[in-house]
Amino acid sequence: MSILTVGSVAYDDIITPFDSRERSLGGSATYFGLAAQHFASVNLVAVVGEDFNLADEELLANKGVDLTGLEKVEGKTFYWKGEYMANWNDRVTHDTQLNVFEHFKPKLPDNYRDCEYLFLGNIHPSLQGDVLRQMSTRPKITALDTMNLWIQHTRTDLLEVIKQVDILLVNDSEAMMLSGQMQLVEAAKTIGRMGPSTVIIKQGEHGALLIQGERLFSVPAYPLCNVVDPTGAGDTFAGGFLGYLAKTGDHSFENMRRALVYGSVMGSFTVESFSIDRCAAIGLEDIEKRYAAFVELTHFLA
Ligand code: AMP
Repeated sequence: MSILTVGSVAYDDIITPFDSRERSLGGSATYFGLAAQHFASVNLVAVVGEDFNLADEELLANKGVDLTGLEKVEGKTFYWKGEYMANWNDRVTHDTQLNVFEHFKPKLPDNYRDCEYLFLGNIHPSLQGDVLRQMSTRPKITALDTMNLWIQHTRTDLLEVIKQVDILLVNDSEAMMLSGQMQLVEAAKTIGRMGPSTVIIKQGEHGALLIQGERLFSVPAYPLCNVVDPTGAGDTFAGGFLGYLAKTGDHSFENMRRALVYGSVMGSFTVESFSIDRCAAIGLEDIEKRYAAFVELTHFLA
């Protein structure tokens, strides 16, 4: 099974309460791709500038991410600078430079158009819509991620694309902003009426919630002593979740519960290092070991 992902490939400057890192490889498509490739083959559509390092391109390619859809154009790669506050949950964006992203129009290579799984990473909703229109067949599952910027400033475009997807992934504050509801379960149900049959609410260190109609499932975040950099946790969560669904081909609620745990597993690895370092270093054995630790962590007698 292959998954198509469209999103950002970026260079990030990150400041945490203890440390900082400049020009680290980031972006929603990068993080998603590196997590999802553990489960299925990944086709990536994004744009980078002339400053994009060959070593970064090779890292993605060596991990098996197909880069036929990675455009390289004149100009600089998308740049983002973020800082985490002492509680690790609050994040301030200091700078966003769209650079080559400003005029990006995703163009799907022909062999990507019939991918059975599609992840529309966090980019302008009109671009997400462009991608949907270029698909030759309707994917088995389309999942979409978005952020407060698009909810606030491009709501009409966003609602149009949300209507067409199966799964929406948002964090708790985005779910409230999108739905106008202050209770998370109500917020998810309201979003469900906008189109997606499944809503996933990411709650950072408090885990994630899966909501499908009246059915609910909740997974914690893995308790860690060594949080280094939370950047990309949401995208790698999505990579683990959708990757597992693509690998198994089973879209039942029961299997989505497992997929949610794989999402949490991938997010937990990501925050253990700056950038993609930890996520790129692990293998399936590490993933299965942490999945088992999740089972142990959450198991209790009925
Ligand atoms: P996450 O921590 O999962 O929300 O994702 C962080 C990644 O999103 C970083 O690596 C950034 O480069 C990227 N990012 C931040 N702002 C934007 C934006 N407006 N559009 C696309 N990607 C972004």
